[in-house]
Amino acid sequence: MKKCIYCKTEIEGNCVVDFCEKCGVNAFGRKMFDTIIKNMENARENQDLCNTRLDQFGQSFSSSGSNKR
Ligand SMILES: [Zn+2]
Repeated sequence: MKKCIYCKTEIEGNCVVDFCEKCGVNAFGRKMFDTIIKNMENARENQDLCNTRLDQFGQSFSSSGSNKR
């Protein structure tokens, strides 16, 4: 369980930011906060995607041998 860096309220461990919604909105404003959350979640999803694809790439690369020039 994580805690908000501003008010120490407990926040969900899978939350992409280290502060609660209330403090986030206070600090950045509703619109900006939503944008930040969206960007962070997108980034995390892309990272997961990248890791998965990298793993698959590594496997196919090592099995296909020396096609590299
Ligand atoms: Zn807070």
